Amino acid sequence: MKKYVVAGNWKMNKLPSETAAFIKELALKVEGAVAEVVACVPYTSLAAAVEAAKGTCVKIGAQNLHFEDSGAFTGEVSADMLVDMDVEYVIIGHSERRQYFGETDVTVNKKVIKAIEKGLKPIVCVGESLEEREQGITIDLIRSQVKIAFMNVSAEDAAKCIIAYEPIWAIGTGKTATDEQANEVCAAIRVVVRELYGDSVADGLVIQYGGSVKPSNAAALFGMSDINGGLVGGASLKSDDFAGIVKF
Ligand code: PEP
Repeated sequence: MKKYVVAGNWKMNKLPSETAAFIKELALKVEGAVAEVVACVPYTSLAAAVEAAKGTCVKIGAQNLHFEDSGAFTGEVSADMLVDMDVEYVIIGHSERRQYFGETDVTVNKKVIKAIEKGLKPIVCVGESLEEREQGITIDLIRSQVKIAFMNVSAEDAAKCIIAYEPIWAIGTGKTATDEQANEVCAAIRVVVRELYGDSVADGLVIQYGGSVKPSNAAALFGMSDINGGLVGGASLKSDDFAGIVKF
């Protein structure tokens, strides 16, 4: 049976004091959903989110981590710190981290390896800019992003990851990739994973689409052959919208 995971990325939104009520409300609205539900909240909201999600179907994730275990990295958060708080998922290599905070495919790879070593489940983001799409290099670029992100990652560990395809031009813009555009790239990701790790990892891998997913377009996108749910930004901030997507 096809597996679905819908993850919300709150980005730099919501106060710690708003978090518990939101997660509890969301949990009630998504109860019984077929898709696994994840809320990736700011570091400052993690404690409240983990506590509020206890005993519900909502899983909690962070939006980043550092690849070192500890040390002089002012402002950074380690995998151990997240694990100690019972955080389960972590987004790695979101395009906003790549664009504004200098993340590269190489740092993404280091973070993937560290997250897996510590027992966190990575949601690894890949995606092309509008210029790259217009140059016709989308598939080559995505293949390269996936290959570098998973360097020195075993098949057993790769199977624990999620890959999120997020075209940069569709994030926060209201512009969604067409169902076919999104599926074409997700299928290409599955091909490269098949080449790297074989059929069982490729067939079982959760590949999400992200980029202006809303309740009105989720069913068509998630119904495509190679899309197993979504990574959702803006619409994850409203519990009705997010629940509508989860229950596509
Ligand atoms: C995201 O931030 O990962 C995202 C897909 O944002 P939005 O849904 O707002 O486009």
